[in-house]
Amino acid sequence: MDAPSPETCVGCGAVLPRVEGPVHRYMTSSPACWAAFNVLGSTRYSLADVPFEALLVDAYAVQHPGTPSNQAINSVAIHLMVLYGVIVRGYAPDQAQRLRQRPGQQRRVPKHERFFWLTPPSFASVLTVADVLSAADVQARADVAEAWVRDVWSVWAQLHEGQVAAWFAAYMAFE
Ligand SMILES: [Zn+2]
Repeated sequence: MDAPSPETCVGCGAVLPRVEGPVHRYMTSSPACWAAFNVLGSTRYSLADVPFEALLVDAYAVQHPGTPSNQAINSVAIHLMVLYGVIVRGYAPDQAQRLRQRPGQQRRVPKHERFFWLTPPSFASVLTVADVLSAADVQARADVAEAWVRDVWSVWAQLHEGQVAAWFAAYMAFE
């Protein structure tokens, strides 16, 4: 049997063997990339107990921004703010879930008027979920995972850090 032909993920650019399968509703990816992300969350590929594990979903979401629907706009904004909060502002990674819930508690501006589409950066030279999975062992995976999260944030930050910081101050910051 021939090996499956490779397929480039429309989101992050990871090249993985083509598979049939589901993709996320608005975090647009190749089926193989979405499957890889789900494998990462399974115990078989445990990252060891590292703080940045809490941010993998944020990195994946903003590296697969999709198209400018209300859901995608909200998702990208919230996950970018979480990355900004932890990486730039020094919130603990274990606060990530609390941060993600904050915009839903701020009701003074209607949900779909809070955020707008940010043109995504190029991910051409950025690590992907495939790099995390191909690391040699649990410790290496944890290291690559943290590098991936920081890498994805840094290309977004080059274009949009000011806007993300403004949204963070308005909708997410807490003492
Ligand atoms: Zn991808």
